[in-house]
Formats: sequence, structure tokens, C-alpha cells
Amino acid sequence: MIRFCLLGTAAGGAPTLRRSPAALVVQIEGTVFLFDCGEGTQRQLIRAGISRSRIALIALTHLHGDHVFGLAPLLASMVSDRRQAPLCLIGPRGLADLISHTLRLVDVQVPFELHIRELEPGYRGELLGAEHWQLSCAPLQHSVPCFGFRLQRRRLPAIDPERLAALGLSPGKLIGELKQRGWVQLPSGERLLLDQVSVPRPQPTLVYCGDTRPCWEAVELADRADLLIHEATFASAHAELARQSYHATAVEAATVARLARVRRLLLTHISTRYPTAEPLLAEARQCFPATELGRELQWETLTDSNPLEDERQSLSNPDTERGQPIAGPISVQGACQGTDQTRSAHP
Ligand SMILES: [Zn+2]
Ligand SMILES: [Zn+2]
Repeated sequence: MIRFCLLGTAAGGAPTLRRSPAALVVQIEGTVFLFDCGEGTQRQLIRAGISRSRIALIALTHLHGDHVFGLAPLLASMVSDRRQAPLCLIGPRGLADLISHTLRLVDVQVPFELHIRELEPGYRGELLGAEHWQLSCAPLQHSVPCFGFRLQRRRLPAIDPERLAALGLSPGKLIGELKQRGWVQLPSGERLLLDQVSVPRPQPTLVYCGDTRPCWEAVELADRADLLIHEATFASAHAELARQSYHATAVEAATVARLARVRRLLLTHISTRYPTAEPLLAEARQCFPATELGRELQWETLTDSNPLEDERQSLSNPDTERGQPIAGPISVQGACQGTDQTRSAHP
């Protein structure tokens, strides 16, 4: 399963009493990921009950202060902790300078290995993978290079006992080898492929989009994800402000979720100008009913089952069918017309 907890849901660098700047912690099996690291992330990690020493990878969507002002203090604390494990850092070009300049000026030397991967503007594709997970990214549309991340839980296919029996085989020690290698030599000399006796299992997927205008890159990145966490800085009344500042309104975030046929949308990066985000939620639900407000410090789990898969398939949109070119600005009105509130119920 994938566990996640939003540490910060505010837009802008200044924390308020109710919201912290952007950060998200995710756990798959034993691996802990941190996405963005706004001011105060260390304190939020403590509140979320997860030790900073467990973080294996930090991915930054972009280098605006509200997403990175917590990074240097976090690294300095890891040094104080006498951390020995290597740490991966991923982010736009300039990340290495940000780390080295800041730590040098405050006289902190990092004794553990830092593996820094800088993403060239416009980069998309796979980033890292391990036995239980796969991380990829896509460029978004912000005032500086900015990326969205797609984290997928990898699961081996399940062996189907009926298919095994049909071939006259019984579950035994060859199963482990078959799963690991993808094929096995039978006593008869025949080669048995994993695909012949297995069925695929759901691969729960979480997508996190940093600051952005609604864009097709985000739609593609979030394609059929179980969860999309998307910025929703503004209400519709401030749509022009959103456009000028390269941010999204809540309805625009919902439009991306709808076009991508995700299972569920969480709104984050809410402007602190709004005393409550409920009106933004109401607007978004008009377009994509399975929308919720991101709540700080609440752990949630993406289960491995995926009961809405068929339902999402039925929410087909010709604009995003594979093979069709997708370009130009996303139209909120076009995408949200004909919303059927009964087809995309809350999970
Ligand atoms: Zn921001
Ligand atoms: Zn930004």
C-alpha cells in the first residue's frame, strides 16, 4: 500500500496558524519520500510521527521559496543526527547550487552521500525505480521550471492457480523463481513464462503536481491515477490572477483530474487570502465530484484494490484517448460540461 500525509497545504512562503507551506510525505513499504520542503517541514514531520532519518528521497517540484525554504535546515539536522545513509535529491536545475551555497554559508558539511539529480527544463520520463516503486516526472507550466511527480507502487503479477492447474502444474518452489525471473524451465524442458500463469495486479499510483497552470502534461502524468494532489491556489473569482501568476484555480485542478480520469483529487496550495477553502471545494466538485481538501497531518492509505477502475474507464473523454494529439489550452467549460454527478462518486 501507499501511505501519505500532507505536511503543508498553503500557497506562499509564510505559514499561518492553520496552514504550513508545501510539503508531502509518502511511504511505500519501507521507503519514505518527501515531496517539496517548505519552511517548517521538520516540525510537521515530527507532528506527523515520522522520523527525518527515514527519508530516502526528497523531490522538489521547483525552487520557489515556499517549496524549498525548509530544505537546508532539514539537511543540517540530518548532519547533527550523524546520518550515514545516502540521500537522493531531485529537482530542477539549480538545486545543487541551492544546497551547496546555503550549507557552505552556514558552515555545514554533509558527511553522508548526497545524490543530486537536476532535471533539465522540459524533462519528462522515468527517474528512479526499486523493487516496490517507480518514480517519474513531467514538466508543468509555472513561472519557473516546475515538475509534477508520479509515484507508482510496483506489484508483481499474481499467480493464477487455475492456469497452473490447466498446465498440469502445482504451486511449488518454481513459483518464486518464476516471479523473480519472469520465466522458469520446466522438468519437461519447456520454458514457462510468468504471463502464461499470472494475472496483473493493481499498481496504486499517486501524482503530485507542483505549482502550475492547468496543462495537458499534468493530464498525461496523472492518467488514471488513484490519487492526484494538485495545486488550487485560487477561487474562480480570481481566475485572471491565477493565469497571470501561473497558478490554477480549484476548478482548473478539477478539470485536470476529470480529463486524466483519476480516482480522487486532493486540493492543496490554497491561497491564505481565503479564510476557508470550502468555497473552492464546492467549485471543484461541480466539475469533479471526487474532490476533497487536502488536510494537513492526516495520514491516509491508498489501498491496493481498485474497485473504481471500470467506472473510470467509462468516463472516457475523446480528447485524452491514446493516440490523439493533445495540445493548446485546457478549456474548463468544455471539459466540465455534462458532468454526471452519479458516475464519479466518492470512494
Ligand atoms: Zn508555491
Ligand atoms: Zn511557485
